[in-house]
Amino acid sequence: MNDYRQRRLTLLRERMRAGGVDAVLAESAANVFYLSGFSGESASLLITAAEQYLLTDARYTLRAQAEAEGTIVIDAGKNRYGVAATAALVPPEAVWGLEEEVLTLARYAAWRQAFPRAGEKHFSAELAAGRQIKDAEELAILRRGVAATDDAFRYIIGEMGAGVTENAIARRLEYFLRDHGASGPAFPFIVVSGTRGATPHGTPTDKALAVGDLTVMDFGGVFAGYHSDFTRTVCVGRAGAQAREIYAVTLEAQLAGIAALRPGVSCREADAAAREVIKRAGYGDYFTHSLGHSLGLEIHESPSLSSADATLLAAGMVVTVEPGIYIPGFGGVRIEDVALITANGAEVLTAAPKELIIV
Ligand code: ZN
Ligand code: ZN
Repeated sequence: MNDYRQRRLTLLRERMRAGGVDAVLAESAANVFYLSGFSGESASLLITAAEQYLLTDARYTLRAQAEAEGTIVIDAGKNRYGVAATAALVPPEAVWGLEEEVLTLARYAAWRQAFPRAGEKHFSAELAAGRQIKDAEELAILRRGVAATDDAFRYIIGEMGAGVTENAIARRLEYFLRDHGASGPAFPFIVVSGTRGATPHGTPTDKALAVGDLTVMDFGGVFAGYHSDFTRTVCVGRAGAQAREIYAVTLEAQLAGIAALRPGVSCREADAAAREVIKRAGYGDYFTHSLGHSLGLEIHESPSLSSADATLLAAGMVVTVEPGIYIPGFGGVRIEDVALITANGAEVLTAAPKELIIV
């Protein structure tokens, strides 16, 4: 097992001891991969004080044995928890830490049937806690993904112009990312132009770009399991006065958000630093979402740069900074970078230009 994974398990076992938990059941693909190295879709990872067991089925056992070094792989068919109980992997009255955010009611019932006398605690937050701070191996992958996503932007602005549809842009972006190391899109891409840009999470359509359209493009890929996330807004043909104004305000807010990032600053303070710029310019009501989120094995991870999150930033966290202004009937602007929190500030990993580009 590599040192990174060994360290993750050590930290998790410390949290298990602190929480009075004898066994942890990881069910989400992200946590299973993070702790075992298995990258398939269907497995439960059972972690005890001394061992880790990957409960999967015959479709995945060979792959699991190759990927999950140091983990005991069990072909448990359709009865994972029953097999774990029969094999006495965990004593009947042990206390389990369950991943309540992802464990379905059906699986919970099956688990309870297999371990009727077990204790249970919610353990989602403790399970994911280690993932907040990225190690060197994770950072190398994230940097590679962010760089490929920058390249996709440089490529796509050369393909854009009046008459090109939103769908065509989204397709070309996905093809480019897959062609440059991504296993797939990080999320359904957002390509929205003109008045459609007023919807922060709109999906692309066959609408053609028209002269004067602000066009918001939010996209990213999955690279060796890790997500990239990127937004730029460009203007088609020429930019009117209002487009230029809301672009300039959004960019100033984005830079203020980045400037606020450093260890010890709370997520809500970072959000407020950017939001204040937009409020002062009179567009506060049009910035309708949080400033950003962490990302890694999932596109949205904890903590998030939101007014509701009091978590203090720490070196090694990787967050997006993505303020926006969305005006119904007119259009929208969003600018999004990925930033790494460093010992005394933040390093912006995204390198694509941020001045308003006319395509
Ligand atoms: Zn995004
Ligand atoms: Zn994002």
